[in-house]
Amino acid sequence: LGTRGGAEGMSEEDFPSSPYRCIECNQEASELYRDYNHGVLKLTICKSCQKVVDKYIEYDPVIILINAILCKAQVYRHILFNTKINIHGKLCMFCLLCEAYLRWWQLQDSNQNIAPDDLIRYAKEWDFYRMFAIASLEQSAFFAGIFTFLWIKRLMTAKKKPHFILLLKALLLSSYGKLLLIPAVIWEHDYTILCLRLIKVFVLTSNFQAIRVTLNISRMLSLLAILSGLLLESCMVFFFQRMEWDVGSDCAFYREQDF
Ligand SMILES: [Zn+2]
Repeated sequence: LGTRGGAEGMSEEDFPSSPYRCIECNQEASELYRDYNHGVLKLTICKSCQKVVDKYIEYDPVIILINAILCKAQVYRHILFNTKINIHGKLCMFCLLCEAYLRWWQLQDSNQNIAPDDLIRYAKEWDFYRMFAIASLEQSAFFAGIFTFLWIKRLMTAKKKPHFILLLKALLLSSYGKLLLIPAVIWEHDYTILCLRLIKVFVLTSNFQAIRVTLNISRMLSLLAILSGLLLESCMVFFFQRMEWDVGSDCAFYREQDF
């Protein structure tokens, strides 16, 4: 964090006046390519690192997705700074629905009810909304932990405000791994518990990379931010347990079945 100047000169505080960023060194760029007449395009070269500002603009979306799955910082910069992807709201909603479904599905298996059909249907529907609300609260607690850590860090270093809106967008987009929860549950097999844990690790790794790339901070700070988020989320889960609400979780149900 201490080093300034050149490629590392961009910091989380400098709001980009240029619309784009170099995906290699995070330096601002005014354009990604220049359009010469007759369909001749030339990719812009970064003044700071002498590499192509954004090579991904001519890549196939599938290649970009594979690179995103590999958690490459360059592709994160491409998506966050150089594209106009605006699906974070819908994606977040869909991820929460996936999580709510997982918890609701666990609940259906653990509750063997003998009430009349209509009552069961009504109760099941209500259960789903409850699971959705709880998944949303846990997700909010995770984000609140991250933001609180970064806010305290900013107070301690007396720097300008980081771009929390951009960070929120990055966190929502990088949680796309939760979509894998549905296939993991539908194709239930002996390794489902392992799959769910791997999905959790994958989502956390993506979030870690998103924080690091968006704010241009060190790996250690990014890791601490993730841990703060997990801490607050765990506090919320602990609170639910103390209240003895049946909220379901990633692994609890499987653990009961294993033994
Ligand atoms: Zn560069």
